[in-house]
Amino acid sequence: MSREREQEPHHRRHVERLQQAGLRATAPRLAVLEVLEVHRGHPAADEVWAALKRTHPTISRSTVYKTLEAFVARGLCRRITGDGTRLRIDGTLDDHHHAVCRGCGAIFDIDLDAFPIPPPPARLPRDLSVTGVRIEFDVICANCRETASAAVCESRRTTRQGGTTDA
Ligand SMILES: [Zn+2]
Ligand SMILES: [Zn+2]
Repeated sequence: MSREREQEPHHRRHVERLQQAGLRATAPRLAVLEVLEVHRGHPAADEVWAALKRTHPTISRSTVYKTLEAFVARGLCRRITGDGTRLRIDGTLDDHHHAVCRGCGAIFDIDLDAFPIPPPPARLPRDLSVTGVRIEFDVICANCRETASAAVCESRRTTRQGGTTDA
């Protein structure tokens, strides 16, 4: 490892974060952590891989997936339940809610302050100990709303032009 690299303060911070999570600070893990810090917008695992390939051309897809799984298991990032087909990752560790657009699938972070919720019960049925609670809002984002209302206007215009004669 070069001296320049050791002098980067965020590099040392990443090493510490991995060690605190009980993981050895290997090169692939450090690289993935770095990408998560830059890509704050809930990237899919393949997007993390694509971003890594620019700086680490030899890193394999399965290494990226395995690393992300290890991170999720150790609480370094969290898995997002999205459309269910892709592994999406949230590298923002501060607790927050999600709002997921039903139109385009975009995920928005919602501050806990913006929507405080009562503390969860300690246990739930089926012998589940509760460690936290998060809310996922079903939303329509501003973009999709605009597109939808544009489509409605368009279809109204078409109907009018088509002209029904029974009026
Ligand atoms: Zn949308
Ligand atoms: Zn998030």
